[in-house]
Parts: sequence; C-alpha cells; structure tokens
Amino acid sequence: MPSLSFKTEPVTARLISPSGETVEKDIEIRIHPITGRTCRIALSRTGQNEPGADTFPEPPPDAENTAQCPFCAPQVHTMTPRLIHELSPSGRLTHGESILFPNLFPYGMYSAVSLFDNTHFVELGKASLPSYAHCLINCRNYLRQVLTHDPKAIHAAITQNHLPSAGGSLIHPHLQINADHRPANHQRFLNEKMDAYFSQTRRRMLSDYLDHERNDGARYIGRTGEWEWMAAFAPEGFYEIWGILPNVTSLRTPDADAWQSLAAGILNTQHFYRSVCRNGYNLGILSLETPSSHMELRAVMTVRSNYAAWVRNDHSGFEVMLGDMATFTLPEDTARQARAFWTSNTLNLLSFQSV
Ligand SMILES: [Zn+2]
Repeated sequence: MPSLSFKTEPVTARLISPSGETVEKDIEIRIHPITGRTCRIALSRTGQNEPGADTFPEPPPDAENTAQCPFCAPQVHTMTPRLIHELSPSGRLTHGESILFPNLFPYGMYSAVSLFDNTHFVELGKASLPSYAHCLINCRNYLRQVLTHDPKAIHAAITQNHLPSAGGSLIHPHLQINADHRPANHQRFLNEKMDAYFSQTRRRMLSDYLDHERNDGARYIGRTGEWEWMAAFAPEGFYEIWGILPNVTSLRTPDADAWQSLAAGILNTQHFYRSVCRNGYNLGILSLETPSSHMELRAVMTVRSNYAAWVRNDHSGFEVMLGDMATFTLPEDTARQARAFWTSNTLNLLSFQSV
C-alpha cells in the first residue's frame, strides 16, 4: 500500500573561506510528501537576520489616507462594483461588518473581494477574531450563491495578500475569493494527486498527512477547534504553516464555529509572524466543489519579505528559475517558535456569540 513519504537529503558544499580554511556548509533538500516537489533549507543562513526584519516595520505612508481608499466608507458604497442580480439582488453581500463585492479587475469568471471591516490599515496580528470569521463566512456565502447560479464553477479559492510586498494592491485588508470552470495549476495538480492516492488507498491524503504529523510531533503546533496546525514539512515559503480541517472537502459546508476556529489559527500564526518582525504574508485555501472531491480543506500561510524600503525579495533566481524554494529555517524550529502562540486563549469561546 502506498504511503506518504517524508524524505530529507542532506547535501554538503565544500569551499575555502575568506580566511583560507576549507569549510563545509550544510544544505537540506526536502521532498514534499504530497507534490513530490523539492525545496532547500540553506542551514548556513539559519539565524541570519534578514535586512528590514530587526524591528517591526513602521506603518506604510498611506496608512492614514482613508479619503483616497475605495474600500473605506462612505466611498466603498459608490466606488466599488456590484454583483450581478443572479448572485445578489442587492449587489453586495454583508456579514457582520464584512462587505463583499466583485473584483473590479477579475482574474477569473467569479472573482470577488471580501472586506473585513471599515478599518483602513491593520498591522499583522492586530485584527479581531470576529472580523476574520465574518469575512470568511461572507466568502462562503458568496461561493454558495455562485455554485447555485453556475454549478460548473467548481475550482474555488480564498486568498489574502497582506501588504504590497505580498501582492496586495490596496493596503485596506481584504480576502479574495475566486471560482472558475478551469482549475489553476495547484488545484489541478493537487486534485490529481489526491484522487490517485484515494483510489490506491481508499484514504484521504491530507488526513494521512495530518496523522503522520500528529504522531511525529516535531512540526505539529496545536489545534483551534477542529483545525489542526503544523509547520510544512517541505516549505515553499518562509515560515510556512498549514491548518488542516480533516474530512471536510468543501468551502460551502463549514459552520460558523469552524470559521471562527480557522480565524483563531490564522491570528495565532499572524502573532507568530509579528514576533519575527514580519509585516506581510499570504494565505490560501483551495477547494474542488464536487461531491467526489478528496481534497480536504487546508489553509496555507507564509511570510513574505517585509514591506519596507530596499528589502530583499524572498523569491530569487533559485525560486523563479529553478523552481525550488530556498528557505533558511528548519520547519521543526518554525513549529517550536510558533507553539508559544497556541497556548494563549485566542479562541475564546465567549467570542463565538458575536459571530
Ligand atoms: Zn481603506
């Protein structure tokens, strides 16, 4: 029976140092248990401080500029587009303080923006739990409307680009949700892998991955409700953390408690990222909205280079041209550092009442 393989391959580079000694530098190549892609951990750079990450960066220059922001009230009601009538008779979806409307510059057939609230700039780790839960539920509600209107728009994703360094066009915090007939590369590739794994084992791949990581413990961080969190074994970004919701394969089905639990894990991760003085990050959750899907829900979070002057981008020729992520931190160290942020009571059951 095939099983997931968690492989590492140590590699050594020999060189003569500037002082004349022959030295050896260690690199660890890891093979991703799901995709088979390789990544590299350049151990000689562990502990090096990235430029611009000695202290938490100052707010962006337009952090107070609410008048020019199309996502701030009152102009959000007149400057943003409206959903077609088939998706929402009122043109926008609201849940709590979250407002959802179409992306004016769409990337696919159904491409929407979900605002958290009317706060123009929120530093990483400073958002409220209800703001994330409401915004995620708004995305879920939009997806339900889309799939009722167009059952072929099965390739769904919720993403976040926090700050321009992570690809965000506007600093006003928001999530994007996309649904399309055609899969993106990751959706197609992951779906193929997870289907093949299920046909061979009658088991779901992410549940097995989670079982392995829970038993191994080295990268396991903790849980928030039904979501379980761990550092990625073969990271494709800096400080990459995964949250898995086992046995759930649709973004349309989780209830308010599950979204609140996801929000708690996202905020715990943000608190960890803040502790290492990073201000930008990406988040992504993919799904295949068919009853036969074996792709369980997984939130992936990764730090991006700081949004600050003259900071080195985290994607060099190695990532862009060779296709291997080269990161500097062992996932086991990421998990050890992140665990401290799972002991607090971010997931305060009392706050459930506000969702
Ligand atoms: Zn704004």
